[in-house]
Amino acid sequence: MKRLSPAETLAEAMERRPALRPMLEAFAPLMEMRGALPARLAEAVAQCGFRLPDWDDARAQAGEPLLDRAELSLLAQPMQEAARSLLPLLTAMPGMEEHAAKLMPFFMTGEGSPRAARALLGGDAETLEALAAEAGLPAPALAFALENVLGAVVRAAVLCQWPSSPDSHYGPEDSPAPWDERPASWMQGFCPVCGSAPSVSYLEEKIFDEKNAFASGGGGRKHLHCGLCGTEWHFRRGTCPACGKEEEGTLEMLREAGGAHGERVEWCTHCKSYCTGADLREREARPDMDAFALSLMHLDIAASERGLTPLYPAFWNQF
Ligand SMILES: [Zn+2]
Ligand SMILES: [Zn+2]
Repeated sequence: MKRLSPAETLAEAMERRPALRPMLEAFAPLMEMRGALPARLAEAVAQCGFRLPDWDDARAQAGEPLLDRAELSLLAQPMQEAARSLLPLLTAMPGMEEHAAKLMPFFMTGEGSPRAARALLGGDAETLEALAAEAGLPAPALAFALENVLGAVVRAAVLCQWPSSPDSHYGPEDSPAPWDERPASWMQGFCPVCGSAPSVSYLEEKIFDEKNAFASGGGGRKHLHCGLCGTEWHFRRGTCPACGKEEEGTLEMLREAGGAHGERVEWCTHCKSYCTGADLREREARPDMDAFALSLMHLDIAASERGLTPLYPAFWNQF
């Protein structure tokens, strides 16, 4: 299946929904940088001595994401490099300009950013707020910058260790990520690497294997895409990723009028959380998933009107 770049993904969305154009155009440079950065950061990540811990089935089955026992302080250098590329774009966003002068030194000096990264991943709002106050920044502005910087660095670390991991189909020479190789070892609705919630989900396209017809399949397996680091993993189709309820009728689907291109909201009748997504069997090309999540904001609006809560709170789904 053809893959779209972040720019192509947004261009396609703007053509379908001209009303979203101003918003999508404003975020296009940031989305392109997010897509390009992980490959550029690979060398800095390799040199800083950071490694994701080895996969441990027992810890995974207990729901422990890999970064829980990783040494984040080693990532200070790659985080600086990511910040240098991302901050000029992030601080060009509405409401972020006034923080430019304080965000740059926060990421460029001291140990602040790995500590803030640990607090962000652990949901430790108190520490994050204290670090933000120390730097003279509002916590939400710091968290927004940090999510982008940390996401790119973690993505780079995953790519260094498992080069094929963003793909659901890999060549024989690649080493698949453990959660792809043994999906039963990771059954959680949050990311096996960083523990963040998914920003978007998709049902896999049909698989055609020219060499081996027996390996071809109808597709339709469900994947979740991490809102922070972009890791993707398999997840049971009828189960709610937020509360884990799996009785029949737990997940309901909301499609916009016309229900075009397989786009939908899946929401939980039990906990009222939702995730946007698409059925790739109804699409010609595979979108860049980070840009795609942003481009589905019309569905976030529809979900918000029904009082539903997004699994991954992002700048485009807080109304
Ligand atoms: Zn993640
Ligand atoms: Zn639920």
